Amino acid sequence: MSSIQIRNVTKRFGDFTAVDNLTLDIEEGEFAALLGPSGCGKTTTMNMIAGIEDLTKGSILFDEQELSGTRIQDRNIGFVFQNYAIFTHLSVYKNLSYGLEVKKVDKGEIERRVKAMADRMSITHRLDQPAASLSVNEMQKLAIGRSAIVEPRIFLLDEPLSNLDAGFRAYMRAELKVLQHEFGQTMIYVTHDQIEAMSLADKIAIIDQGKLMQYGTPLDIYNSPDNRFVANFIGSPRMNLIDGELREEKDQLKLMVSGGAEIKLQGQVKSEFASDGKVQSGSFGIRPQDIYFGDQRSDSDIKMHGTVEVLERVGPKRLAYLHVLETMFIAFDDQDRLKVGDKVPFYLPSEKSMAFDLASGRRLGGVAK
Ligand code: ATP
Repeated sequence: MSSIQIRNVTKRFGDFTAVDNLTLDIEEGEFAALLGPSGCGKTTTMNMIAGIEDLTKGSILFDEQELSGTRIQDRNIGFVFQNYAIFTHLSVYKNLSYGLEVKKVDKGEIERRVKAMADRMSITHRLDQPAASLSVNEMQKLAIGRSAIVEPRIFLLDEPLSNLDAGFRAYMRAELKVLQHEFGQTMIYVTHDQIEAMSLADKIAIIDQGKLMQYGTPLDIYNSPDNRFVANFIGSPRMNLIDGELREEKDQLKLMVSGGAEIKLQGQVKSEFASDGKVQSGSFGIRPQDIYFGDQRSDSDIKMHGTVEVLERVGPKRLAYLHVLETMFIAFDDQDRLKVGDKVPFYLPSEKSMAFDLASGRRLGGVAK
């Protein structure tokens, strides 16, 4: 088990920058997720940690020890890919024992560890069968078990659950978390699925176009996104965002949105507003679960109106799609009170609202009134 330091790492392919000055510190035993849209540089980062790709600039260290020049096989890394590298012609047992045999582990110990891992993965009844006969789900368990059994210093998982059906994915997510806890291994997990990252990781690095957007615990990132990209990427359903023009009038900062409406902003936002007479585009954000219907709870809450376009059942609640100011807001109708076509008032708690500078994406702080 090791800590990982990624320091100012850049990777270029010709003129194209796939990873741009990335710095990340992953603690020993931590489960870190690299999260971002397709093509943002997650796999390239993994490959550089594994030693499969060279770095253009910067350095990667394990336990503060520089890795450049250390061969892949000497890095003691467990790697699980989305297309699991299994020896399909060998038995399940052989697949599990292979890594231990290469390491010249004692025969009795191999037998013990293979049995324990097979039990853990519920594939004991398959040990003598060829791996080719396994189902897709069992194959994925085997791929993870095969890497975990050698207890590597660092475990890298690149979208390992993407081929699985939804139910099994949820099961494997829990299983992976248990495994990580049991072995206490440092894990880096690549995914474009924010739900997977939120439910598994101790810390999440959100990456866009090769750049780190934010690194923090799932709760920090969810409650306190640094920028509009993170606010929009994290959360299901996504944050409601409405763009407009920031204006300061009589000491009051406002977001003028299309349709002539205005949202009054105050607090930190105001002090960060570059009040130099230039038009500045901004964005206002509120999470669906923070919107409420019924009686206003606080004078500072923002009142809006919207027309209910669609109601969608999700368990005991319904998602309400509201047409608001030429955009669509999503809210939760938890008491089945709304009807399609209703024009309803709703409220946005000021302390839960956020504002962003549209050009830089940077968060402007809390919003009120
Ligand atoms: P995905 O989830 O789709 O795998 P990713 O976030 O893992 O995406 P990478 O595979 O790291 O993204 O790729 C980042 C960018 O670098 C992409 O635009 C990709 O086309 C480019 N890229 C990756 N490898 C190479 C290469 N060997 N040569 C040129 N461009 C590359």
